[in-house]
Amino acid sequence: MLLHPIPAFSDNYIWLLADDNGNALVVDPGDAAPVSAFLAEHRLTLRAILITHHHPDHVGGVNRLLDEHDVPVYGPADEQIPGRTHALAEGDSVQLDAPALRFDVLHVPGHTLGHIAFFTGDHAPPLLFCGDTLFAAGCGRLFEGTPAQMLASLDRLSALPDQTLVCCAHEYTLNNLRFAQAVTPDDTSVNQRLAQMMHTRASGQPTVPVVLAEERQSNPFLRVDDRPLRDAINAREQAALTDRTEIFAALRRWKDQF
Ligand SMILES: [Zn+2]
Repeated sequence: MLLHPIPAFSDNYIWLLADDNGNALVVDPGDAAPVSAFLAEHRLTLRAILITHHHPDHVGGVNRLLDEHDVPVYGPADEQIPGRTHALAEGDSVQLDAPALRFDVLHVPGHTLGHIAFFTGDHAPPLLFCGDTLFAAGCGRLFEGTPAQMLASLDRLSALPDQTLVCCAHEYTLNNLRFAQAVTPDDTSVNQRLAQMMHTRASGQPTVPVVLAEERQSNPFLRVDDRPLRDAINAREQAALTDRTEIFAALRRWKDQF
């Protein structure tokens, strides 16, 4: 299997997964050109398109890819998705013949209301394509959903197996870790990860995918129950918040202003 983040626009990743026979799927092709170039260069055949949500930088390349490839498009039922052939909701699964994988569909509202994520345990390690819900050391902005919805979505993703590779759709990692450092300056896992990721970016490499167990250590949005983070939120808010949704909402507002 080949798992590769194809860079697009300024900071998007279009994920490509291909088996050893050259059968490929892509996730959230916001732009067709870099996908077509990658398929040609690596002699791969596109077999399926998976879509997590309706934003243009995730679906903008679908129609042009469909002009060149007659493939199914799997996307959320509750959003407008160009070329969608399979409308998916919570609890659905996607069974592909090539690459031979079965994905579970998770409804993860927050960034958008219909946002879905794709998880497969058929790959070792397991893979999660989560769009703009969970990022390396961060989470998506709340464009449509509520803090309670996003927190519930992140709780679900955080409960997936430790070794799951989180395949998120943007290269936001350094900014996210600088924010995490601002929230909890003394956190060793955050500081070590920032130093490592600065090195990774300086050498021109993507910081993704990331291992879910590591996210739980250093992603502030997965740590709203941690005492140092709660203390930092309450110091900033000059409050004594204890409700985890309120803590999460304050953390997200802080990040929006960072
Ligand atoms: Zn988005």
